[in-house]
Amino acid sequence: MDTSKERSGWSDQELEASIDAYLKMMSSEQNGLTFKKSVENQLLRDGPLSKRSASSIEYRMQNISAVLEQMDFPRIEGYMPAKNFGMGIGQRIRNILDKKVVPGAGESAPTAHHLTLISRAANLQKKGLKVEPKGNANPQQVSVTTMSYARDPKIRAWVAELAKGVCEGCGQNAPFEVDGLPFLEVHHVKHLAQKGSDSITNAVALCPNCHRRCHLSSDKHDFKLSLYRKVKRLIIE
Ligand SMILES: [Zn+2]
Ligand SMILES: [Zn+2]
Repeated sequence: MDTSKERSGWSDQELEASIDAYLKMMSSEQNGLTFKKSVENQLLRDGPLSKRSASSIEYRMQNISAVLEQMDFPRIEGYMPAKNFGMGIGQRIRNILDKKVVPGAGESAPTAHHLTLISRAANLQKKGLKVEPKGNANPQQVSVTTMSYARDPKIRAWVAELAKGVCEGCGQNAPFEVDGLPFLEVHHVKHLAQKGSDSITNAVALCPNCHRRCHLSSDKHDFKLSLYRKVKRLIIE
């Protein structure tokens, strides 16, 4: 190890001060607040980074961007990642970041909530992941409490029978059979969670695609209106 370089290198205190300033600016950026990189730079040189030049601090900020990007975390737009670290600097920055709350990092945190998972993944996909994710061999098990509704099997049977194996959303045949019957999912057009009724005037038989569409799609509102138009027995609640 090159000890002379090590001695002239940045101390952990200096790195941490830079990281704290970086995360503060990133939080401002994410909250739509204005900040001046030059002001933050000056504050650092007036304080814990008195031995450093403005440009070396700017470069350190770009190193922090590079490490954040490697960790699949958000970074400050204005600091292009610079991957030329001095010896071990990248790892030391990472060790300090591990102990910090990174603003916006929650957007890529694992979640047991299905809709949160879908929306986080969509945001990441739009932003574009640069590094193939390592994944987790032992995903954390979490227990969740959910509220559910007791549904009447007669309503489900009746609505499925009316549909005769044809999706009331798209007109396609049920994709497969379950228990010897064509499989369609019975969906409450006004969701039970929104206090919709469990009745044949509020339930439609849908193929799994149309059912997912009702709950998740960008056009779910229009699709719901189209169901009200198409399926005459439905009554708007
Ligand atoms: Zn369908
Ligand atoms: Zn549903």
